[in-house]
Amino acid sequence: MPKFGRQSRKQLASCDERLQRVCNRAIEVIDFSVICGHRAEADQEEAYREGKSQLPWPYSEHNERPSRAADIVPYPIDWDDRERFHFLAGVIKAVAFIEGIPLTWGGDWNKFQDLPHWQIADGK
Ligand SMILES: [Zn+2]
Repeated sequence: MPKFGRQSRKQLASCDERLQRVCNRAIEVIDFSVICGHRAEADQEEAYREGKSQLPWPYSEHNERPSRAADIVPYPIDWDDRERFHFLAGVIKAVAFIEGIPLTWGGDWNKFQDLPHWQIADGK
């Protein structure tokens, strides 16, 4: 059974309890890493400058504390393998549905596809 490494656990701990619940269930069936939970101001500005985030501080869901967004990647990571991101997304969506947790996947966005990105979709 896959398990989160130290970095993933640390990132996940900075996330909304609902994101933690989904990820902790999903890791039982598929291996992935949590590469980003809460993002502080300097990190958000850097991500924004590099085009990795569409929003400057403090408007990203990653800037909330606890973070309302988590970036996750299939393990081991291959950024060019989009199919694995979609496979992981299927598992995450199924777990979120079963747990009754509304999540939005960045891979479903039309304008700026953000394959690692998940956020709480409770209308807040
Ligand atoms: Zn993100």
